[in-house]
Amino acid sequence: MSKVPETASPADTAAPSSANRCAYPWQQMIIDLTGEVVPCCFWSGYSNFGTPLGNTNERSLAEIWNGEGYRQLRRALTENTLENHPCGNCAAYRWANGQFPRFGWPVDFAPEQKYCFSGPIPEKFGRHAEQSGTPALLFENGIPLPYPDSQHQEIRDLGGGRYSVWKGWLYFSTPDNSDPCSNGRHYQLRCGDLTAPLGNLHRDSKSGQNLVQAYEEYLNGVEVVSAKPSMISLISTADCNIDCPACSQNMVRLTRVQHRPETVPDVLDHLPYLQQLIWHGGEPYLIARFRKLVDEYQREDNPNLAFGFTSNGTMITAAEAEADQVPADQCFNLGRQLRSGNFRADQSRRQIRSGDDELARPSRIT
Ligand code: SF4
Ligand code: SF4
Repeated sequence: MSKVPETASPADTAAPSSANRCAYPWQQMIIDLTGEVVPCCFWSGYSNFGTPLGNTNERSLAEIWNGEGYRQLRRALTENTLENHPCGNCAAYRWANGQFPRFGWPVDFAPEQKYCFSGPIPEKFGRHAEQSGTPALLFENGIPLPYPDSQHQEIRDLGGGRYSVWKGWLYFSTPDNSDPCSNGRHYQLRCGDLTAPLGNLHRDSKSGQNLVQAYEEYLNGVEVVSAKPSMISLISTADCNIDCPACSQNMVRLTRVQHRPETVPDVLDHLPYLQQLIWHGGEPYLIARFRKLVDEYQREDNPNLAFGFTSNGTMITAAEAEADQVPADQCFNLGRQLRSGNFRADQSRRQIRSGDDELARPSRIT
């Protein structure tokens, strides 16, 4: 049977559309050094003038998360009342050709239209399928779905397990037309003896349950949410062990602005529920709590966590600096931006990593 898709292929144009509502207000908090909280980096940047939704110097993360600012934002996006609103001038939307940021989690597909869900096929798997000429089949909990090679409009309108693998993308529906993002079943593509799981969400963990809850609240446009934030980005210090003349933090450092000491522990209390934590500096290795987290984090603490940080790398030990010393399955995105051999860096690395925190004293974070 020949197959003619009714829409332009995402391989030829943009990715297929999904429920086009920004997911950040249901997922993300970005906290800067002043304690101000925004939902994304497009809110008050890129010619946008959104005001903070709260301040961790005044309120806890939980209070801000369901405070007036976040509630109003969720309402505006759900009701699509975005005139004269920062989200009506969203750079992310423009850059993505009219697609708001999707719900972010380790599930490789998203709603497309009606019963249809879509997502990119893992690259290696797609290459293998193409070269072998063997059809790629989709399995739900180990059972093959009934209608491969379906018309895309039929997948959308009828669902029922119809699916199509098309130009690097999978379009599919479930046999009972339930939402595969939250029905708890596992999906897998198979081509000959090669298999590719679609997503890697650990649903039984606190973060997995929190993500499923957040996803449902996002889809339903819930204003006061019970799910906790699943993505936190934190700027915790402007201090650094290096003194780069062109550092963007130089002015910030001079002002000695700092969020209150409760902020970092509050963020860390959210760790079991997070899918992503990004920790920025200055140099985060100056912060004892940061080093403790990096040293003691265990994958089983939160199997869904992707942890990223920005560091000049001078205090990373030799063992850590070997890329293969950081197990890939720990989801650590180790961003080593600069390897410096200067005296101060060597000294600080030795002293701080051996437990002598003398050089960490300039940091006002503990
Ligand atoms: S729509 Fe744009 S500006 Fe509004 S929260 Fe989402 S990413 Fe930020
Ligand atoms: S290493 Fe980075 S944070 Fe530190 S002074 Fe240089 S530019 Fe600034």
